[in-house]
Amino acid sequence: MSETMRPAMQSLGMEDWEAWVAQEKEPSYRASQLFSWVHEKQVTDYAEMTNISMGLKMALARDFEPEPLWLVKQQTSKLDGTNKFLFELADGALIESVFMPYQHGNSVCISTQVGCSMGCRFCASTIGGKERNLSRGEMLAQVYQIQKIMGERVSHVVMMGMGEPMDNIIECTAFIYMITDPKGQGLSMRHITLSTCGITPGIRRLAREELPITLALSLHAPTQEKREQIMPIARRFPLDEVMAACDEYFEKTGRRVTYEYALIEGFNDTDQDVTDLVRLLSGKNAHVNLIPVNPVDKKTEDVGDDLAIRRPEHQYVVNFQNKLEKNGINVTIRREMGADIDGACGQLRHRRAGAEY
Ligand code: SAH
Repeated sequence: MSETMRPAMQSLGMEDWEAWVAQEKEPSYRASQLFSWVHEKQVTDYAEMTNISMGLKMALARDFEPEPLWLVKQQTSKLDGTNKFLFELADGALIESVFMPYQHGNSVCISTQVGCSMGCRFCASTIGGKERNLSRGEMLAQVYQIQKIMGERVSHVVMMGMGEPMDNIIECTAFIYMITDPKGQGLSMRHITLSTCGITPGIRRLAREELPITLALSLHAPTQEKREQIMPIARRFPLDEVMAACDEYFEKTGRRVTYEYALIEGFNDTDQDVTDLVRLLSGKNAHVNLIPVNPVDKKTEDVGDDLAIRRPEHQYVVNFQNKLEKNGINVTIRREMGADIDGACGQLRHRRAGAEY
């Protein structure tokens, strides 16, 4: 983050407001008024803060960014009501977020970093590397602004957009505490999913916090050898250690872990993969989420090899699911949302950066 950038107003929790209000020599009850404007009423215009004096509003404007996200582009799916958003941050960086209406409530998929440094072969978000972490306020603002634009309450958040949450664990944990604060958005912990490519210390840290959120592990291959071929992070955190950390998460929180598995034609969709996956997961309280991979148009120089990332035929995906189920594994196929708007996550930003407009 550039040094001249003011922190997002949404980054301040109750204690931060108390400290700021004391610094401004204002009575302490101002802290709860400000907290309520920002996190409960989710106001981004100082003018609307009717019980705050002009002097204090000027101090707010001096110290904080009231709206850290500028809407650049919104795409609406005619098929299922999915909306994708491209936002520009105060320093000009671009991120994506997605609104998905489900029967059980409205869900927002947020980004946790600008870009990503994990280098997964099939992913668009990592192509230009990581620019920076998002602050807690920039994550909260994605939910608040989308809620305002859609005019509908958001009840679920998935941390599955651009970025690796475990590579930004302090801000991500703070975000989780703040979005579940009953005096703010008040989400249930159970309605939050954090997805990771498998950074073992981060998973263990989350387990120690005993937050009853849903942990999703991006597994994508059933053996260490195969995983290394598509996910460079696997070399640093081997599969057996990652699985042990996930087991610890389940033991500490009682929350079933979701294993995401992007099916890549001819690479991880064979009968041998079924056998290996069953061996890896049987006996665990696990849920497998199959994702037919979204091909990303990467150039060979982007990925450094020529592994073809192709999506298997739908029937093949269903067969893969059936074989796992026959072996007692809990499995679903991820519903494709917004198929008529833009492809994989990260592509909206990638296209723009690639000057396709
Ligand atoms: N960095 C985190 C969260 C962001 S990615 C993680 O790795 O889990 C969210 C999910 O989308 C991950 O499971 C990721 O592997 C998957 N994904 C990324 N690119 C994809 C693509 N082209 N097709 C299908 N799934 C993809």
